[in-house]
Amino acid sequence: MNQLSSSLVWLALLVAAAAVLLAAWLATRLRHERREARQQATLADAYILHMAQHDALTGLPNRAELHERSEALLAEARRRGSGVALLLLDLDHFKHINETLGHPVGDDLLRTIADRIRGAVRPRDIVARMGGDEFAVVLGDVRHDGEAELVAAKVLARVSEDLPLAGQQLRVTPSLGMAIFPQDANTLTDLMKSADSAMYAAKHGGRAQLRRFASEMAEASRTRFTIEALLRRALAEREFRLRYQPIVDVSTLALLGVEALIAWETPERGVMQPSEFIPIAEQSGLIRTLGEWTLATACHEIQSLRQEFACDFDVAVNVSPLQLRQANFPDTVAQALQTSGLPAANLTIEVTEGILVDGGETTVDTFRRVRQLGVGLSIDDFGTGYSGLGYLTRLPISKLKIDKSFVDDLAAPGHDRAVAAAIITLGHQLHLQVVAEGVESKAQFDFLRGAGCDAVQGYLFCQPVGLDALRQILRGGRSLVNGAELAA
Ligand code: C2E
Ligand code: CA
Ligand code: CA
Repeated sequence: MNQLSSSLVWLALLVAAAAVLLAAWLATRLRHERREARQQATLADAYILHMAQHDALTGLPNRAELHERSEALLAEARRRGSGVALLLLDLDHFKHINETLGHPVGDDLLRTIADRIRGAVRPRDIVARMGGDEFAVVLGDVRHDGEAELVAAKVLARVSEDLPLAGQQLRVTPSLGMAIFPQDANTLTDLMKSADSAMYAAKHGGRAQLRRFASEMAEASRTRFTIEALLRRALAEREFRLRYQPIVDVSTLALLGVEALIAWETPERGVMQPSEFIPIAEQSGLIRTLGEWTLATACHEIQSLRQEFACDFDVAVNVSPLQLRQANFPDTVAQALQTSGLPAANLTIEVTEGILVDGGETTVDTFRRVRQLGVGLSIDDFGTGYSGLGYLTRLPISKLKIDKSFVDDLAAPGHDRAVAAAIITLGHQLHLQVVAEGVESKAQFDFLRGAGCDAVQGYLFCQPVGLDALRQILRGGRSLVNGAELAA
């Protein structure tokens, strides 16, 4: 019995010991799991924080993070009396790469550019992606401007190096704008504005370059903002008018059609030139609304005149490359034709040669769809866009317009005569109609007629005129040209 009870005691002790061990093991395990869960939660938090502060594609800090860290750099610079440089970088023609080579290649390119910029600056400098193809670099503790200019030049050179992508060597250049605290701005917001003005100047100065902010750029920015505000109001209040410049048949001097040109007079600034406000409308995106209005109005006004005088003539409408890049542009054209009743064959869309340099497959497709409607396509300012001639056979073009700059010197023998004659021959071989613009003198006209040019427009015949004056011309109340004099 004694033996039995002592065995039981031992068993109880053993069970108790096992229970204690199990409890201890469980407690350790629980602690371990809790610690792991805590660690994972910290990791998840860190990940979420990282995602919130960084750009997913390149891994670079994003705009919000750049702002926060730049404010810290500025505060430090104020304490130390040193400078902070902000560089804004925008890739030239990036849209073209995305359009022609596809978005995955575009993404690869952005990652490579991000690495290149990072590699061109010191580890403590901030490199951020601002969105799209725009990057920013912030250099802290700048002792003198030369230091920042050197880094900027290095970034420019590094980014512009040849780049093997999608089985070919690409060359992508950036436009860079730089502003330095405290010389160019006192706050981060102003520093951003100044660098942005400088970048705008770099883009418009021919791209692939670095521009340091200068005070006149701020003035240019203000003017741009003012004109943009005026444009918004003008669109709402319908302050625009169209003027029409007659296009004349070279051999018969008959009116073939008109080119619609936009005109805008503001109470504040008087007459505004298209060259002054069209680029701003393009940059702000307002060109879409403006372009739709122009197209609809030109079709409507000209179709009314055609019906009023029961005569057949065409209208040419200038279209910005930005409008052409919109996938629904052919629908806009179809809509304008349908609403106005203008036959498609009596409408020509004029585009500058630049679109052929910048435009990708989407543009080519848009061109085709416009032509399928039966609308003509004319290459404006031909010979000034430095593009190859390959597109002439690839695209469904119907007309070439010899740029005024070639017409200007036609009166006297020289290179421009050779260029104009070559354009006419080239156009005819491709079965295109050739129109010369900006014809101001009889001597220019005589040369063009001799060279076989099909149609002309210019002050020699008529300036762009309002709808009423055009009506007068059609009524025969106002002659276009002195036919006898030109025939002589
Ligand atoms: P463009 O399409 O090359 O238009 C011809 C320009 O030359 C017009 O200037 C016209 O008034 C001017 N011009 C015509 N004949 C002569 C001449 O014999 N001598 C001289 N010196 N000039 C002549 P404008 O109206 O100032 O237009 C300038 C540019 O603005 C146009 O060049 C075109 O690129 C753009 N533009 C005009 N209207 C529109 C529009 O509705 N939409 C778009 N996107 N652009 C437009
Ligand atoms: Ca034109
Ligand atoms: Ca032109």
